Amino acid sequence: MTTLFTDLQQFSYWRGEILKHESIGFVPTMGALHQGHVSLMQRARRECDRVVVSIYVNSLQFNSLDDFSKYPRTVDEDFELCKSAGVDVVLSPLKDDMFPLHPVGLITPSHDAEGFEGADRPGHFSGVVTVVDRLFSIVQPTDAYFGLKDYQQLAVINNMSNELHRHVTIHACETIREDDGLAMSSRNRLLSPSARTSAARIPLALLHAISCWQDGNSSSIAAIDAARSVLECDSTIEIQYVSVVAAGTMNIVDTINQHDVIIVAVVIDGIRLIDNMKFITA
Ligand code: AMP
Repeated sequence: MTTLFTDLQQFSYWRGEILKHESIGFVPTMGALHQGHVSLMQRARRECDRVVVSIYVNSLQFNSLDDFSKYPRTVDEDFELCKSAGVDVVLSPLKDDMFPLHPVGLITPSHDAEGFEGADRPGHFSGVVTVVDRLFSIVQPTDAYFGLKDYQQLAVINNMSNELHRHVTIHACETIREDDGLAMSSRNRLLSPSARTSAARIPLALLHAISCWQDGNSSSIAAIDAARSVLECDSTIEIQYVSVVAAGTMNIVDTINQHDVIIVAVVIDGIRLIDNMKFITA
């Protein structure tokens, strides 16, 4: 049975009944759920005694009111999806319960938050770590599941969690993709048909960069140029950044090694999309 809690006190009562030795797997989301989210829930289901999914569109991490109001909200479908994934609890709190004090005391994210998403979306990661810290305090999970799709977010949350929630084990989960390779994202449903076609270039660009490296060129400039050449064929794609970082970090590299990661952000038709892939030998 899946129980929906919107009231934090009622959730705390449920949480208080869980026995000390039971593991609690937590999947924080902003709703508009898809198979990428479901893969996190399924992994938590396999690995933990209890599974909690939060659905909370976190206004603190949006730097434009328009982006926040446009963010898709599909509450009923989300609950059904959680049910079919065997989730025990869906927690969908109200903003005033999450953050009763005004202004909200924001947490400063680690150094890893500075470039890329952090540079293009000022305040974004402060909003992310503030809400995840709050959710961790409420849910008190033993394990938390995050997608590698949001590579920088994972790095920043890992740092925050190491500092403030050492007892929570963070699990990094592989990116789930559409048949044409586009990384699943709640934002994909905002794409027009032509923008959706253009978006399919993103994974192609990343794969092209990786195959360039597999062919023996280890320069990150060459890989970035290879990715850009695929994206630039489509004039509707506005590139925000393409870069290569060392495995598990946000440190830019000049020479690519196995497990380093190519990261990209583009805007198509006003919709911002991010993706990344690891360099691995064929
Ligand atoms: P969001 O609702 O977009 O905040 O995402 C909630 C969680 O789902 C985050 O940990 C994301 O990284 C993860 N996630 C989003 N898209 C995917 C995907 N395509 N594959 C795997 N995980 C994902």
